[in-house]
Amino acid sequence: MPKSKNMRQELLGKLPGMPALMNHPEIKTLRENNPTLFVNDIVRQTLDILRQRILATDNSDLAGITIDEEQLAEQALEIALRALEPSVKPAINAAGVILHTALGRSVLPETAQLAVANAIRGYCTLAINEETGKRGDRHAHLDKLIAHVTGSEAGIIVNNNAAGTMLILNTLAFGKEVIVSRGQLVEIGGAFRIPEVMERSGCKLVEVGTTNRTHLRDYENAITEETAAILRVHTSNYRIIGFTGEVPLPELAALGRKYNLPVIDDLGSGAIIDLSQYGLPKEPTVIESVNAGMDVICFSGDKMLGGPQGGILVGKREIIDRVKKNPLTRALRGDKMQYAATEAVWKLYLEPEKLPQTHPVLRMVTEPAESVKRRTQNFRRRISAAIGDRAVMSIEPDGTEMGSGSLPGKGIPTYVLRMVPNGRTADCIGGILRKGRPPVFIRIVEDALLFDLRTVAKAEEKVLAECVIKAFDRAFK
Ligand SMILES: *Cc1c(COP(=O)(O)O)cnc(C)c1O
Repeated sequence: MPKSKNMRQELLGKLPGMPALMNHPEIKTLRENNPTLFVNDIVRQTLDILRQRILATDNSDLAGITIDEEQLAEQALEIALRALEPSVKPAINAAGVILHTALGRSVLPETAQLAVANAIRGYCTLAINEETGKRGDRHAHLDKLIAHVTGSEAGIIVNNNAAGTMLILNTLAFGKEVIVSRGQLVEIGGAFRIPEVMERSGCKLVEVGTTNRTHLRDYENAITEETAAILRVHTSNYRIIGFTGEVPLPELAALGRKYNLPVIDDLGSGAIIDLSQYGLPKEPTVIESVNAGMDVICFSGDKMLGGPQGGILVGKREIIDRVKKNPLTRALRGDKMQYAATEAVWKLYLEPEKLPQTHPVLRMVTEPAESVKRRTQNFRRRISAAIGDRAVMSIEPDGTEMGSGSLPGKGIPTYVLRMVPNGRTADCIGGILRKGRPPVFIRIVEDALLFDLRTVAKAEEKVLAECVIKAFDRAFK
């Protein structure tokens, strides 16, 4: 019999049995706090992983495998901890994308976090009229507040902006035609495509104009008996530059009034305050759309607004009332957590001058590049002794992305810490950071790790430093 075959058999024979591992002191402690069946499963998984490894390893490499009960118990504990921790868990975003959809989009203000915790502690007044004790309307909580801040007649919230767009189209134009410019037939990440949304809402799309230019007469020529609405879509995540032209909103509103047709505005990001006052590129604001005479406007709750997931609809009271009565609205409504958090966020807009302090998204947007630079210098000082010569570090100018289709391209000047590891790839370190606790997300460019602290709160800096040092220790072990 060849020696290697012996060796494989020998290794398999040395694997501890289930009872031995189950009685290991650490595993015993795990059993005291968790169901035995769960622990059984974890221990069996751990043994299986090693058994598969022995079976799959080349003969020449078998000598590298050791069987150590202590190590197996440690692995079982690690698997158990991962299985027990929440699947949705806090993470650090050092990638420099403020509204990072995969990382939960906007970071909620503290007042909104408290409002949610308060509302879900027990029962709450979600849909009850406290005066009469009768069933009330959940939409009433936000109607006046949203209308007041945006200068519109009425407002409601639904599940998200995709739902908002569908609801408006379905309410105003089911079975009829909606006119849209060819330059606005966009896809907004993750299967939200205007032509498909239109079809699912039961409307017929009437395309007008060309990709780069659409004129008022294009809209007017397309109006027929079958027309139910005109739709404007903010192209969010892309820009056409050069020889372009869109119809200004006031002219589109006037056309709607002339033919008695509602004009819908899907604003997407929906900034409430004008970012150009902070020296940033201009995003269209909700208030501008209201002032331009748009009949109904929808936008996301968790983009520039900075709240929880939601779709905000504002506009003419008559239209909002019709949307409320649509049975689909019942299917796409929000829950008490959404209402509680959304209310708290809109209240911050009553004191707009304080937003850079009270509102995390606007705090990130408005932090001066010099301040990010100072924090980055401190951060580098914090880790440099521990990292030593395992990476070359520098601080470089870069750009923070708004994300989620707002301010496409890198809109906000920032500084990043650039780390080029010596003898390990940036991908290797990046992977360890991602799988660490808490998970850390960064950018990797040309085999360098880039950390943008604009999206890292001051309170997270210490933990981030520990994560980076741990990741290097692990990579260079
Ligand atoms: C983001 C976006 C949507 C989708 O909004 P969600 O809140 O993610 O559902 C719809 N329309 C436009 C123009 C957008 O930018």
